[in-house]
Amino acid sequence: MKVPVSGLESIFLNRPQPLNFHDMKIFDSHCHLNDDAFADDLPQVLARMSENEVRAAMIVGIDEACSRRAVALAEQCEGCWASVGVHPHDTAACSESMLARIKALTASPKVRAWGEIGLDFNRMHSPRADQERWFVRQLEIASELNLPIILHERDSGGRLLELLRAHHWIGRRGVVHCFSGIAPELDQYLEMGFYIGITGIVTLAARGRDLRQMVPQIPIDRLLVETDAPYLTPTPERNRHRRNEPAFVRTVLFKVAEVRQEAPETLAPVIWDNTCRLFGIANDREDAFLSPPL
Ligand SMILES: [Zn+2]
Ligand SMILES: [Zn+2]
Repeated sequence: MKVPVSGLESIFLNRPQPLNFHDMKIFDSHCHLNDDAFADDLPQVLARMSENEVRAAMIVGIDEACSRRAVALAEQCEGCWASVGVHPHDTAACSESMLARIKALTASPKVRAWGEIGLDFNRMHSPRADQERWFVRQLEIASELNLPIILHERDSGGRLLELLRAHHWIGRRGVVHCFSGIAPELDQYLEMGFYIGITGIVTLAARGRDLRQMVPQIPIDRLLVETDAPYLTPTPERNRHRRNEPAFVRTVLFKVAEVRQEAPETLAPVIWDNTCRLFGIANDREDAFLSPPL
């Protein structure tokens, strides 16, 4: 069934939805269901995913404990996958022994990526030297394990790109999550072969303006959508909910479709395929994903 973009909000807000609307499959390529924000109502959060065609989610680690929780959750929840690693904010506490323990987690078949890793010079929760050292070390580990990487970059002024170029022998399979850079950076990531993850920032009136101009420049086969839940709640959900959740990735997808002037029904399966391809998830096994509600 074709649904006009203008009618989406009412469909989202007024259940029940038309039955044949469940043809769509959406993958939240980056969320933190392992965050304490979801400790009390995870079953309801998963149910809302399924009601909104969000059939899969990548749960991302930021430190050792969080990576462990990501794997445990992914093993319990249909449609959930895990990524492990140390976020730039947490690199001050990183060590080789910690990375060895995180590496052991990748024995689980649910682990499909290493991250999020990168540089964040905005808040400087960890000194720059630690961020750079452990970023490069984790690039090596991901490459050894042949896992795609999930990159986090904020205000590094081109330094992340510099480090990626300096270690060009390491695989460049990965995604720049929550892309919020400038057009020349976008070009370089694309040239290096990375996928680009778009969050709810694209829906925000002022903060999303630059991003909305760049989104149509991203080749369709490199595009991913994500929530980064519990952070970055999109509009209009942010008017009613403080916490973001994977179900809202649907709003991100529809906004991306709108600014690209593409039909969401056409864009959704391509983004789904992109995400499965990047994370090496077999796309044909329906039982690997959350089922639509009965
Ligand atoms: Zn991030
Ligand atoms: Zn994140």
